[in-house]
Amino acid sequence: MVMTEGTPRRGGERAPAATAAPIPAPLAPPPAPLVELRGVGFGYGGEPVLEGIDLTVARGEFVGLLGPNGSGKSTLLKIVLGLARPTAGRVALFGREAARFKERWRIGYVPQRLATFDAQFPATVAEVVGMGRYARLGPFRRPGAADRAAVERALAAVEMAPFRDRRIGQLSVGQQQRAFIARALASEAELLILDEPTAAVDAATQEAFYHLLEGLNRDRGLTIVLVEHDLAMVAAHVASVAVLNRRLIFRGDPAEFSRRDFLHGIYDERTTCEVHPEVPHVHPPHAPGAAK
Ligand code: ADP
Repeated sequence: MVMTEGTPRRGGERAPAATAAPIPAPLAPPPAPLVELRGVGFGYGGEPVLEGIDLTVARGEFVGLLGPNGSGKSTLLKIVLGLARPTAGRVALFGREAARFKERWRIGYVPQRLATFDAQFPATVAEVVGMGRYARLGPFRRPGAADRAAVERALAAVEMAPFRDRRIGQLSVGQQQRAFIARALASEAELLILDEPTAAVDAATQEAFYHLLEGLNRDRGLTIVLVEHDLAMVAAHVASVAVLNRRLIFRGDPAEFSRRDFLHGIYDERTTCEVHPEVPHVHPPHAPGAAK
């Protein structure tokens, strides 16, 4: 039987008439990535440190930023944090051009450790966490009970409530980093940026720290970008990596990167390399005096 417009189907249901097809609702625009770098370049004067970086970080991602020493990881973070201006390209944060992005509290930053000067600063953990909260309020609003409760919740989330009255400079590096995460949580940051947070801690602390970050990413939807030197650690905990070596040489699944690295030694510091998305191509290291 030929089904014509309006012919009853089995079960008595009528085939929808072509003319009655509902007009599809206009598609909502896809959400803007929290970080979008297009053709970003940077140099401190001489040699370029970053070149042609195209990198996006979508909301909810947990990205490990990898690369050998001097590959430009910290410089890239500085650009995202607004502490350095790229010499080429374009940076957008939360869908807005970086220069026009004013809600800096939406990005929480966790340094490796307190600077020597800050370590002398006579602030307690709760006060440091509170600073994150109060930075959001502006100069004319006094913190109230709700703000103090937000600070306590943030301390509890990183298991630092028992340390609330300790001087921040007296804490271990790992505890200081938890306090900085609490500061970001108290200010309701949506993007957390960490610079080699586990460089100076033992393996058990490192595992516990990653566990905490995984929970914040999974349960609170916190977007995380973390610089890490330990490829195995990243591969075990992070869904996506971005690998720098002046250029962005890989973006994607850490297991895939490990396979390519195993095959080509991409991560070897002596190797200069460029990996085209489709065609891995690695230049061997230039031995001194070797014929080109
Ligand atoms: P990474 O974090 O991957 O180790 P960096 O971004 O710190 O790399 O450094 C990239 C390059 O820029 C390195 O060659 C480093 O020596 C250089 N560099 C970093 N900071 C400065 C600076 N303030 N002045 C001049 N050169 C710098």
